Amino acid sequence: METDNATYTQIWDRVLIWIKPNLNDDSVYATFFQGSYIDRIEGNTIYAVANTGLAKEVLSKNYGELVSSAVLKTTGTNFKVIFMSEEERSQKAKIQEEEPVFFPDSRLNPNYTFANFVVGASNREAYQAALMIARNPGKLYSPLLIYSDSGLGKTHLLHAIGNSIHENKPNLNVLYTSAADFVDEYVRYARGDKDKDGNSLVSYFSKSVDVFLVDDIQFLVGKKGTMESFFVVFSKLYEQGKQIVITSDQHPNRLDGLDQRLKTRFIQGLTLAIIPPDLPTSEEILRSRIAQSGLNADDFDPDVFTFLAQHFSSSVRELEEALNRLLFYTVSICQVKHVTLDVAKDAVSGLLKEQGNQGKLCEARIISTVADYYNLSPSQLTGKIRTSQIALARHIAMYLMRTLMDDQYAKIGEAMGGRDHATVMSAVQKVEKSLKDDELLQKAISELTLRLTK
Ligand code: ADP
Ligand code: MG
Repeated sequence: METDNATYTQIWDRVLIWIKPNLNDDSVYATFFQGSYIDRIEGNTIYAVANTGLAKEVLSKNYGELVSSAVLKTTGTNFKVIFMSEEERSQKAKIQEEEPVFFPDSRLNPNYTFANFVVGASNREAYQAALMIARNPGKLYSPLLIYSDSGLGKTHLLHAIGNSIHENKPNLNVLYTSAADFVDEYVRYARGDKDKDGNSLVSYFSKSVDVFLVDDIQFLVGKKGTMESFFVVFSKLYEQGKQIVITSDQHPNRLDGLDQRLKTRFIQGLTLAIIPPDLPTSEEILRSRIAQSGLNADDFDPDVFTFLAQHFSSSVRELEEALNRLLFYTVSICQVKHVTLDVAKDAVSGLLKEQGNQGKLCEARIISTVADYYNLSPSQLTGKIRTSQIALARHIAMYLMRTLMDDQYAKIGEAMGGRDHATVMSAVQKVEKSLKDDELLQKAISELTLRLTK
């Protein structure tokens, strides 16, 4: 987290102000708490400096819970707090100058928890395994691999595992990352000038990661160097008895182009699938979402839920999208107090038409299909942020607009969030060129073309 010292001071002041009356002992406060401050915040961890080495011990051992609840109360975020002494801080600062920081943007999403994951026949096993792992990291099966089509809760479960461990076993370091970000990190360090053989990446993992949560492993496919490095990291963590959890959009054996050694390793733990939710589970997901939004399910005719479940259950993401449309519609357009089936049908008619209109090709559909294929959101695809994965998906979308729709470069540029003619042209040419000998790209393009033209 890039935050300045003034913000740290503000946060810590609030924490201390909360702690003081709750501690009920002014001398303990003055002796151990006074003079402490935040050195830095990394991901979900606050590194705080205590006034002496003894204070560090006392704060960590005796007041850890009080501090955690103070932080949660005053920031609304479940930070883990690690105390250190002034000497440790200056030592650490020295080491930090030498050691690269890995995965600086990796962070758990506190909104994805076990508590708000609705369990049904379609996801029960995956849920149970995730829960068991969160309770006993490294002890049961490693890796746990969960695979499914997109939008069925894999990412949610990964974060739920991370959040639960973070809360119940705060001394374990959890790293959540998507495989696409792993690729970028590998390219940034292991292949960069800093570290030709990837040593520091591996040592970072073996020293600083206890629970490794890797999302969307399919994005390693075809990345030779990265797969190699991933294999070393994986094996190291495995040897150390650490917990690894992986998700994939397919069973690893069906991931053509994935290193055979990785396939073998990935399925040596426990491999489970999630399938689309059945109707009762879908309805329960809707009710749970409604409750989370602070609304009352009684304000909806029960057949509204049945209707949405019947039409949007192929993915929970779609189900949520349909519900959001409905909520938006009832608040801003027709402003009803009680939501009937007719209102619901009107509200989502656009979405149903999109489903029915699969044959009609347009730029928006290319964007959403490509985004879905790469597990991105359409706005990531048309936006400005650039990772290798997003850049590739972007180029492919532009290429498909050109080849399937025969669009002018300028029109493509506009559809892609205002990119200029030259950018589009170069993207299209890049894809044309790579297509000659890049089998993965050939596969992606033919799969996407199939989805867009069927
Ligand atoms: P995936 O990673 O498989 O593509 P996500 O975990 O991103 O899917 O899920 C998509 C959306 O659906 C998220 O908002 C997630 O919270 C929600 N979701 C998925 N499964 C469930 C479930 N069983 N209960 C509640 N919400 C769910
Ligand atoms: Mg996901």
